[in-house]
Amino acid sequence: MVQDADAVKTPGAELSGMPLKDLTTWVLDSGFRPFRARQIFRWIHGRMATSFDEMTDISLASREKLRETAGITVLRPVQEYGSTDGTEKSVLALEDGLPAEVVLIPDGARLTACVSTQVGCRMACRFCQTGLSGFRRNMTAGEIVAQLNWLRMSASPRRITNLVLMGMGEPLDNLQAVIPAITIATSELGACIGSRKITVSTIGLVEGIERLAGLEGQFGLAVSLHSAIEETRRMLVPSAQPDSLDDLEAAIRAYGRVKGRRVTIEYCLIRDVNDSRREAQALAGFVRGIPCKINVIPCNPVDGLSSEPPDDDGVQRFLEYLYPVCPAVTLRRPRGRDVAGACGQLGASLMERALREPG
Ligand code: SAH
Repeated sequence: MVQDADAVKTPGAELSGMPLKDLTTWVLDSGFRPFRARQIFRWIHGRMATSFDEMTDISLASREKLRETAGITVLRPVQEYGSTDGTEKSVLALEDGLPAEVVLIPDGARLTACVSTQVGCRMACRFCQTGLSGFRRNMTAGEIVAQLNWLRMSASPRRITNLVLMGMGEPLDNLQAVIPAITIATSELGACIGSRKITVSTIGLVEGIERLAGLEGQFGLAVSLHSAIEETRRMLVPSAQPDSLDDLEAAIRAYGRVKGRRVTIEYCLIRDVNDSRREAQALAGFVRGIPCKINVIPCNPVDGLSSEPPDDDGVQRFLEYLYPVCPAVTLRRPRGRDVAGACGQLGASLMERALREPG
């Protein structure tokens, strides 16, 4: 398995991953007229063009030159699954054949796209399928946006209203691609998803949270806390070290203050691991005074991992510990469990296996 490899580069400049500002610079540097930048951006992110041939208002000579010097990321669907609850999971092949898993989650008037940011993940959380499959490589900004654009095409005529970076990978471990990708997603010429409707989910890498806080948009932040007791958290989320819970709390507080919005705390509830009264009290103590909402998600079962959710009584008991002291706690229904599209179940196992086992 390739460890720590950089993202593979498509030959030429990958235009799909360039926010309009960068695309404008590239267009000028390449000797095209300035208005071409908006035109190309609109084709890729407005009309979801996947080739320069489609750009019929660009002269043939310019299209030829674009083909020679640049590329548009194209993803190929490999597997599509529909869940009985309306959730749709798809495995898309990146240009080098590696898998990107995406999920479409309808919920009333909302239609949420969930995309991946890395092939595999370095974080190795104890209860997570992606963590189990190891790390292959970072995705490029173009690959992240291409997943969103693929979902927009596939959802059409429904409009995607929300975007979450909660698929495979740790977004704050790949900020160089995530920042341009979420910038593009907000563009009025493209997906036009407001920054408040875009959520970055992280195991809580403090430096990354600080960088995100420095961005212009009011992007949502979800922190996968899972325990407010240092020892339990280190066991469940080993890569969250060396950041301490105190540092994390300070970063979350600052993020909420700077962005003027509540942070989401994700808590994956695992039987006999983080479901005790002591854990609930520690969680209540951690969030005291932080404007936040807490999502409690009974752990989804993953093949090859022993973590199990508590039974219904166990879940209720945990919530009852929390309710009197925590103002905003929601029990999250697992979505797409039957198609292994629920949180923590993404690992593209079929395709990964196909890649690993020749023939
Ligand atoms: N690396 C990021 C985003 C990807 S995981 C993060 O950790 O936040 C998206 C969410 O799924 C996280 O909250 C993660 O903790 C959760 N998750 C992982 N495995 C899970 C499982 N087996 N059951 C329920 N949630 C899980």
